[in-house]
Amino acid sequence: MMDSPRAGTRQPDALGRFGPFGGRYVPETLFTTLERLATQASSFLEDPAFRSALAEELSSWVARPTPLTHARRLGDLWGAELWLKREDLAHTGAHKINNALGQGLLARRLGMRRIIAETGAGQHGVATAAACARLGLDATIYMGAVDIARQAPNVDRMKRLGATVVAVHSGDQTLRAAINEALRDWVSDPEGSYYLLGSAVGPHPYPWLVREFQSVIGKEAREQLLSATGNLPDVAIACVGGGSNAIGLFHPFLGDREVKLLGIEAGGRGTGLGEHAATIARGRPGVLHGCYSQLLQDPCGQIIETHSISAGLDYPGVGPEHAYLASIGRAHYETASDDDALAALDACCRMEGILPALESAHALVGAQRWARSHPGQRILVCLSGRGDKDLPALSQLQESSDEGTPERRSPVEGDPPMKEIRGGAAQSKETLR
Ligand SMILES: *Cc1c(COP(=O)(O)O)cnc(C)c1O
Repeated sequence: MMDSPRAGTRQPDALGRFGPFGGRYVPETLFTTLERLATQASSFLEDPAFRSALAEELSSWVARPTPLTHARRLGDLWGAELWLKREDLAHTGAHKINNALGQGLLARRLGMRRIIAETGAGQHGVATAAACARLGLDATIYMGAVDIARQAPNVDRMKRLGATVVAVHSGDQTLRAAINEALRDWVSDPEGSYYLLGSAVGPHPYPWLVREFQSVIGKEAREQLLSATGNLPDVAIACVGGGSNAIGLFHPFLGDREVKLLGIEAGGRGTGLGEHAATIARGRPGVLHGCYSQLLQDPCGQIIETHSISAGLDYPGVGPEHAYLASIGRAHYETASDDDALAALDACCRMEGILPALESAHALVGAQRWARSHPGQRILVCLSGRGDKDLPALSQLQESSDEGTPERRSPVEGDPPMKEIRGGAAQSKETLR
């Protein structure tokens, strides 16, 4: 199901470096733990028994392979041949389960029963809680107090799945603080606990390990597209938060030099500090959470606040392999604004009957833009997750935009707003063009 550690096109060196990026910048107590994890993980990933256990769970519990959908109407609208890799149809609604399940199985093989994880919006927490329940492991999930307040349904889901959710009141009380607390917990018990990191970030071996578990996305998509069309895509596009769905899509195509790779970061509401999460496009190299990569930081090297309409892209760092692929020009990275992502989400809903996650809508913006500059090309997009989780945020945005534009209001006080009969902003603009 996945590349063996030696079979991939590009492997990190012994210290987990991709070019100058990556590495393992952690306290001494964790250094040996991580070193052992790297060794054990690479032997398990090559072990046929482990691989078949993982393959069996991926198929019978996660519902892999996920389909590849030819998005004909949206493609026609944008002027491209558009294919969507449907990670929204994976169990728990996004690609994150591929990694949570893989690492959970690994932890169990290593004899660890207690899993520690962090979560921002709660998606990785839900995937981890589900995988731990399935595998009979205890899950302790750190989550910022601010995020707990914002993401109540996911907190309920985690608890229902049997996880312990720990509220973090330190620091910014969001994802960054949650990662710090999870690391602190781990440092205090590195022998008895397994830290299940949620994206292709952090100290070696995580960026590599997460990539191995997520590469199933690109492997399947490559085979599915070849068998459907006889051809590879002209370009493969994914959104980039920490970078796990993107590296999972990209990695199996790295050796196909003719396939362009395009990552889309959160452009937020502007280019100013704190208005976006465009780490590669606007960051500088530095160390965060044990890893040397591109970061959003102030002139003193302090990490700055980020903004994105999509919680899953709202991280000030990025996986080191992306920093490397950008530096050598193998992959390119652009940004999509909040507004453009909303418009693309709207278009995908109306043209394809698929409600994508706000994160995935950023990748769709990339596809729309690519189609404009390369008409008729074959575009493969990773639809990383489904958008049901975003419905409360979407209706809030709708309400505030209705308030902001009085001419759209119903003329009679108390009448229901006439949302039902209006076309989506994206669609009406596109169809008029
Ligand atoms: C978490 C999440 C992302 C961003 O994480 P990556 O590690 O960059 O893939 C993207 N899409 C969805 C649906 C997510 O839940």
